[in-house]
Amino acid sequence: MKKITILGSTGSIGVSTLDVISRHPDRYSVFALTAHSQVERMVEQCRRFQPTYAVMADASAAEKLRGKLQAQGSDAMVLSGMEGLNEVAAHAEVDFVMAAIVGAAGLLPTMAAVKQGKRILLANKEALVMSGQIFIDAVRTHGAELLPIDSEHNAVFQCMPEQYNGNLRAHGVKRIILTASGGPFRDAPLESLTSVTPAQACAHPNWEMGKKISVDSATMMNKGLEVIEACWLFNAAVEQVSVAMHPQSIIHSMVEYDDGSILAQMGQPDMRTPIAHALAWPERVVSGVGSLDLFSMGKLEFKQPDMQRFPCLQLAYDAMHTGGTQTAILNAANEVAVEAFLQGKIAFTDISTIIARVLSSATHHAATSLELILDDDRQARGLAAEFVNSINKTFRRQAR
Ligand code: NAD
Ligand code: MG
Repeated sequence: MKKITILGSTGSIGVSTLDVISRHPDRYSVFALTAHSQVERMVEQCRRFQPTYAVMADASAAEKLRGKLQAQGSDAMVLSGMEGLNEVAAHAEVDFVMAAIVGAAGLLPTMAAVKQGKRILLANKEALVMSGQIFIDAVRTHGAELLPIDSEHNAVFQCMPEQYNGNLRAHGVKRIILTASGGPFRDAPLESLTSVTPAQACAHPNWEMGKKISVDSATMMNKGLEVIEACWLFNAAVEQVSVAMHPQSIIHSMVEYDDGSILAQMGQPDMRTPIAHALAWPERVVSGVGSLDLFSMGKLEFKQPDMQRFPCLQLAYDAMHTGGTQTAILNAANEVAVEAFLQGKIAFTDISTIIARVLSSATHHAATSLELILDDDRQARGLAAEFVNSINKTFRRQAR
């Protein structure tokens, strides 16, 4: 029986993880659930999964949760804040940690789990984009097992040689091809992008996800973060990772070998497949995802990404080329800009403008410690907030 902590259990990935776990009560049990502030959903999850711990990032939400759990006779222990998250991620009784908090907030608890040598199911790509080499080194030093949940990286993992040791050349791997749906605006007239709303940006054609990653998919920053994520996960140079637009989201990614073979992993666009894969690896278990009907699917299409439509993708490639803390700066600027867009403070097209400005005005450093990375994350957030404010003034004037 594997005991599991789910960081971010109330989110899209968290809920899908609980769905897979519930299909295998003989293999997996829930040790801890964590959320930011959604008390009602957490009460419901605790009733159903009976965790030993429930953690709310927000202290007042934890207080509310405590009251509600007592009233329902649950004996789950309630913790709060970053300390609580770190404690349940690193707890001696835990075997697997699903890292499914969104954004930089997931970095420290995920690292806490890495340092205890857990199996890490990594959905929280931002953590790896920020900390890169430090994260990978810690995985090695502490004997943790790192399994990708991001559907593209999980697909690449499945298409890699079984004994892959981090040397692409030695295994005859030529390149990694990440597929991208292109999101809701892949065919929209370019001039319409300035006026798209958060609701339109969050309406992804193929996947149901949290708001932040949905906007990232619409700008294709998500793919940019994934290029960086792939470099770290598979020890690839940025030139060895390319992106192919594939609107059907049926091929989740591919690996090309020196002999001309391209291996692809296919399936329905449903995150329960990569989650079940990483939970059971190297075995296979039922995920709840149905068979892919090849005949009703019909055709698969591929296209070059258009960097003019998706400047965020280029910004991510550039940040990875620069290296050091530049990818943490990219990530932080993106988080601030996306939040501002969701709050109606800036236009959709301002997201890439703000990130580009932050990247060119922030000072980046060699990423030699987590402290330095977090310093540059703060620096970038400060700059991004200033740019948001100055754009917001013009934005409001125009809206009048
Ligand atoms: P979501 O917004 O649906 O859920 C996020 C979870 O994190 C929630 O439980 C929320 O309570 C918690 N959380 C948010 N802010 C927090 C904070 N400051 N401190 C502690 N907890 C906090 O997001 P999601 O779509 O489930 O995505 C989660 C992660 O997985 C992201 O990094 C995303 O890029 C990645 N991912 C998601 C999908 C998907 O299909 N949803 C696919 C691939 C990768
Ligand atoms: Mg993905």
